[in-house]
Amino acid sequence: MPKKKAEIIPGDVSCLLDLRDLKMLCSSCGEFTSHKRIVVPKPETAFGRLRYLCENCLLG
Ligand SMILES: [Zn+2]
Repeated sequence: MPKKKAEIIPGDVSCLLDLRDLKMLCSSCGEFTSHKRIVVPKPETAFGRLRYLCENCLLG
């Protein structure tokens, strides 16, 4: 039986995911980017809000 690969995405209140193409909304610039290129950095405070950043915003 072939193994099905599961995609795991940390979800939070601020997480916006387009289920049609699995694109996620960047918390910073508001652009939809492939979930594979979205980075979820550690929150600034304990149990703080998660932020979803595209590559541009992460580096910029
Ligand atoms: Zn961005």
